[in-house]
Amino acid sequence: MTKWKCSVCGYIYDGDNPPDKCPKCGAPKEKFEKLPDDKAQLIERSRLTNALHQKLYSLLDEASVVCDKGIADNLDPTCMDIFKKMKDCSRNIQQMIKAEIQGHIGKGKWG
Ligand SMILES: [Zn+2]
Repeated sequence: MTKWKCSVCGYIYDGDNPPDKCPKCGAPKEKFEKLPDDKAQLIERSRLTNALHQKLYSLLDEASVVCDKGIADNLDPTCMDIFKKMKDCSRNIQQMIKAEIQGHIGKGKWG
């Protein structure tokens, strides 16, 4: 699908024509630039993976909350070990996801 980018704020609009004004910053239609096909395809291609990263990030937030409850309950050291390991693991993967998305943005795989 044809994509238009607001040159003021970076908002990406999907459509045959640009919107009358930018939904995000209110800039007029003339501020929208048509993205070349290869760039538009790269954004389209990256949307699912970026959404999966965001979903996974949010699931890891939930996992951390579960771990905190387990740590607070403190039934025995082997349970604590699992909850602490999972909490560290969640944080670690979340940081990886942030770095990965930052890389995607830098390579035009976002929008
Ligand atoms: Zn804008």
